[in-house]
Order: sequence, then structure tokens, then C-alpha cells
Amino acid sequence: MKIAGRITGEALLVAKEMIREGVTTKQIDDKIRTYIKKCGAKPTFLGYGGFPGSACISINSEVIHGIPSNDKILKNGDIVKIDVGAEWKGFTGDSAATFAVGEISENAKKLIKITEESFYKGIEAIENTPNPRLGDLGYAIANHARTNGFSVVEEFTGHGVGSELHEDPNVPNYGTQGRGVRIYPGMTLAVEPMINEGTQRVKVLSDGWTVVTLDGKLSAHYEHSIAVTNNGIILLTKVD
Ligand code: MG
Ligand code: MG
Repeated sequence: MKIAGRITGEALLVAKEMIREGVTTKQIDDKIRTYIKKCGAKPTFLGYGGFPGSACISINSEVIHGIPSNDKILKNGDIVKIDVGAEWKGFTGDSAATFAVGEISENAKKLIKITEESFYKGIEAIENTPNPRLGDLGYAIANHARTNGFSVVEEFTGHGVGSELHEDPNVPNYGTQGRGVRIYPGMTLAVEPMINEGTQRVKVLSDGWTVVTLDGKLSAHYEHSIAVTNNGIILLTKVD
């Protein structure tokens, strides 16, 4: 899981370095696939449920599961979410982040910052709560997003991750403190707040994949695969 996580995190860094106006999401996807294969790993997303890319690349009001395309060209002021997974010897990593293309609005900057912070609030909640439960994690994430004026996507969640990309349990980005599945050492989870500028509501486009905000406002995403140990949380996909 550590090696799969490291390759996943590095692939995300490779993608980050490509982000600028004029680049297509297909070019980014190609680079990610090449990098993962060079590491002796497999792009987990490629062919998963029939998904055609090695990464999900989602722009502005696209929340998650954007399909890489030659027709999707990054432009100044966009925010772009890149979500990637690498499988190494039967285990997979899963990680995502939101990046700015050139100069973005103040609210977009705030959305990206709060989304990232909400992830770490969730991790702190696991570390600081005796016998933590998924409700403690979800509450901390949602509370940080909502007190900063944003909303939490509830129709999609984080998940267990390991030999499969999506394993039990579901890991919601909201919850009630002290409730839900116990979080215990040995668990490996993908924690991934999806935070919206406007309404929390989303819909799936007719391509069958791309999830967008219902009001067309911005959405941000931040994800790491984590391992829960007796000595705290390891962020398996964090490499920078
Ligand atoms: Mg992901
Ligand atoms: Mg995930």
C-alpha cells in the first residue's frame, strides 16, 4: 500500500507540473499513464467500470469523474481536479487534488484551501478522538467546510481502499460525532472531501460519468489514501 500510494502521489505531482493554459486534459492523462507504467504499476482507473482514462480530470463545476479529452483545454482562471490511482502488486492508491490554472478568483482560492484543510481536520479528528468512528471524521470535514460558507457533497463519499479501489466502508464527508463504523488500526481508507461553492446537490451528465454541481458553481476535491496504525495515521499518497 505504501509503494502503490507513493506512485499514486508522484503521478499526481507529474500532473500538477503540467497544469497551464492551453494544455488538454488528455495530455495530462497520457502523462499520468506513462508515469505509472514507467514505475512498473498499473493505472487503476483505466478500464475500471469501463472508464476510458487513467485519471479523472474535472474542471470548475465538474465535481468528480471527468473524462480526459482532447476537447477539454485548460484556460486561465479554471480550477482543475485531478484524481488518480496506481496499482502495484495487487494493491492500489487513490489520491486527488484541485489546482489553479493561472490566476483564479479569490473565492476559488478559498474553496481549494478550505477543501484541503477539511481533509486535515478529518485526520486530526481521528487522531484526537479516543476510539474514533467515521462520524467523527465526517463531522470534522463537514463542520470546517460549512462554517466557511461552503457545502458538502453527500451523494459521493470516500471509501475503503486496498486490493480493490472501492472497498467497504463508505467514508462520508459528513456525520455525527461518536456515530458510525469504528476506525481501527489496520484500516486503509480513501478520505476525499468534495466541497461545493454553492448547492451541495450534484448530477451525472449524459456521458454516464461526469458529476457536476446542479447550480454550475465551483467544486473542489482533495483526497489521500490513509493507513490507520497504532502509532497514528500514515498518509500513503502524500509525497510532497
Ligand atoms: Mg480518487
Ligand atoms: Mg477515492
